Amino acid sequence: MAQAANAGIPRPASGIGLEPGRMIEWMNVRALGFPDVARLITGRRLLPLRHTRGRSGARPWSGEPHDVVPSRDRKTCTACGRPVAAITTDGVTKIANGQRNPRAPTLRAICAVLDIDRAALLPGAPPPDLEAEARRQADRDAARREQEEQEAAMTAFADALGHPELYRDSIGRRRISAELRRLYAEYQASREAVLAS
Ligand SMILES: [Zn+2]
Repeated sequence: MAQAANAGIPRPASGIGLEPGRMIEWMNVRALGFPDVARLITGRRLLPLRHTRGRSGARPWSGEPHDVVPSRDRKTCTACGRPVAAITTDGVTKIANGQRNPRAPTLRAICAVLDIDRAALLPGAPPPDLEAEARRQADRDAARREQEEQEAAMTAFADALGHPELYRDSIGRRRISAELRRLYAEYQASREAVLAS
């Protein structure tokens, strides 16, 4: 019988096998712990919410299966009161430790949070290139500083024009308007023209 013949032969594990240890190495590079990865996947809505077991000792649900109806804080289902999450800290930990293989959408979400290609976690993937990552981070920091300086220059320009509303939205948050970007670009161009003449 087929059943008997298959007895004792391990079935291929479901999900996608990862290179052992790589996920934890990348989490270290990004300075993220297991709860951080779970929180970011849920917070950035990278996976749909599902019911979770919650605290150990919670009684199993005996009602009708249903789609999650998330509460405002996205931590419970308002239809049944059970806790919900996109992925639990325990789930992230088991995947990182190789005790569970992620399915494709979960692997995609993990890679998005770690800011890596999927290939970086698959079997045979090399360890993170720390020098390359440090250079990338330095480039990103420099780009962010440049953007901040640019925005500071534009808000100062709007203040000088007497039009702070060009960088404030209706509830007072700083947001550079398209109009301000246009005026500032014009101002820069005219200043360069003066300097060139
Ligand atoms: Zn529910």
